[in-house]
Amino acid sequence: MLKKILIIFGVFIYTTMSVYAAENYINLDELNIQSNTQMTQSQYKQAQKIIRELQKETPKQFNHNYGPFLAAIYDDKGNLIAKAQNSVIPSCDCTNHAEMNAIRLAQKKLGTYDLSKYNLSIYVTAEPCIMCAGAIMWSGIKNVYFSVYSKDVENITGFDEGYKPNWINQFKKRGINVYGGIEQDLGKQILSEYVQEGNTIYKPARKCN
Ligand SMILES: [Zn+2]
Repeated sequence: MLKKILIIFGVFIYTTMSVYAAENYINLDELNIQSNTQMTQSQYKQAQKIIRELQKETPKQFNHNYGPFLAAIYDDKGNLIAKAQNSVIPSCDCTNHAEMNAIRLAQKKLGTYDLSKYNLSIYVTAEPCIMCAGAIMWSGIKNVYFSVYSKDVENITGFDEGYKPNWINQFKKRGINVYGGIEQDLGKQILSEYVQEGNTIYKPARKCN
């Protein structure tokens, strides 16, 4: 009798946990999200919210000659640590991508070049390029959330995002979670508007004003 009760109880716990797990994690394929790990519903909602806010701000940068990319760094309690836009053209510095600027601000604010103990997340309106992926790795940031994939950025804007061999798997080996493709339809639309409005497309031979 006791054995029977234990089996029934075990089946009940297993079923409850399976249902809970299925509810708690999103279906990455269904949402066209590329990741090197699983993503919970609340994580997805939080990422959507932050990326949408960044996307809403992006067109405001167009008139000031900033590039159409924004990045924000948050701690694990949801506090904003740093936010920055791509300022390559106004600052005449090819390393001033949004992620680079945000990482610099976060390191200055926290007073350290090693952010690993803060369990930080970076949210970006597009997939990090080869330079920014490198900088994220060196910074100690633990989670990367981005919107538009590099191939779409290249198709829409003509930017060259650089060669990144299997970076998402490489990040996994170094304990960095990556989640791509969040709110990408809106992200692509904003990049198309940037191009349609005749804003500057970065060219390596372009002179600074
Ligand atoms: Zn970059």
